[in-house]
Amino acid sequence: MKKRIVVALGGNALGNSAEEQRQLVRQTAVPIVDMIEEGHELVIAHGNGPQVGMINLAFDKSQVAMPFPECGAMSQGYIGFHLQNAIREEIKSRGMNHPVATIITQVVVDKEDPAFQNPTKPIGAFYSQEEAEKIAAETGFVMKEDAGRGYRRVVPSPRPIEVVEDRTVNSLIGAGQVVITVGGGGIPVIRDGIRLEGVAAVIDKDFASEVLAEMIDADFLIILTAVEKVALNFGKPDEKWLDKVSVAEMEQYMEEGHFAPGSMLPKVEASVAFAKSGPGRTALITSLENAKDGIAGKTGTHISL
Ligand code: ADP
Ligand code: MG
Repeated sequence: MKKRIVVALGGNALGNSAEEQRQLVRQTAVPIVDMIEEGHELVIAHGNGPQVGMINLAFDKSQVAMPFPECGAMSQGYIGFHLQNAIREEIKSRGMNHPVATIITQVVVDKEDPAFQNPTKPIGAFYSQEEAEKIAAETGFVMKEDAGRGYRRVVPSPRPIEVVEDRTVNSLIGAGQVVITVGGGGIPVIRDGIRLEGVAAVIDKDFASEVLAEMIDADFLIILTAVEKVALNFGKPDEKWLDKVSVAEMEQYMEEGHFAPGSMLPKVEASVAFAKSGPGRTALITSLENAKDGIAGKTGTHISL
């Protein structure tokens, strides 16, 4: 049966440099097009940590001022460029004909979000304490010491509230097109009447993908990462891989602290939120290579009510 699927790609689908990314996305495209070939409607979301980091760093070094939301928009552009070309080529090679496009996507955050009082995400270059104090005084940036390696700018990571371009995404997938969207969790914007103002922040791509999945009434949220399944006691001798888990069980495991904040926890939280948001909605956490078998229920960690 045809399903509407939001696929969130992890860092391992994109790699760490532009050239590596251009090569890697050819492999990333294969399981994505497998799903399209099976008749599913597909929306592809992705992270942008290393990419937006590189762009921001390059401007830092060049002394050309480039605000952080603009760096985020650039990262969506070049990641989308690589992904849409690789997916297009894979589609054509199978004699299929779906158009593929990337949508520059903004995601609304709340200016009262407590994250703005406590920026945590380091971006850009390392500085000495003296340099950091000078930058802070000149720009108002928040600079924090990063694990003994020097001072870096930190930005907040607020929760996504809504995806601005949801109706565009909806129309395109409804018309049989493949859409790449909410790249890097979306460009964070704050509402000011009818205006949207970009803010220096990063949105977790797992949370943003979940919000999008709800807004476009997806059946499946698939979070693809480096592991085939989610584990209890991850990396310990009594490690236990999870197959089919209820929301109530997952909430219990979260409380027991099984999932690392900043890596697996946001995926599990996003999955639980999606499974809770409506009847028949399932989240799946698995690896790229296992995506197809995952949808068929043969592997991965499935979370549902
Ligand atoms: P992505 O770029 O896909 O968001 P992350 O590195 O942020 O990837 O998160 C995925 C990683 O989380 C896995 O590769 C694994 O190393 C780690 N991880 C932490 N806790 C768990 C767990 N309980 N089960 C499985 N993997 C876990
Ligand atoms: Mg991550």
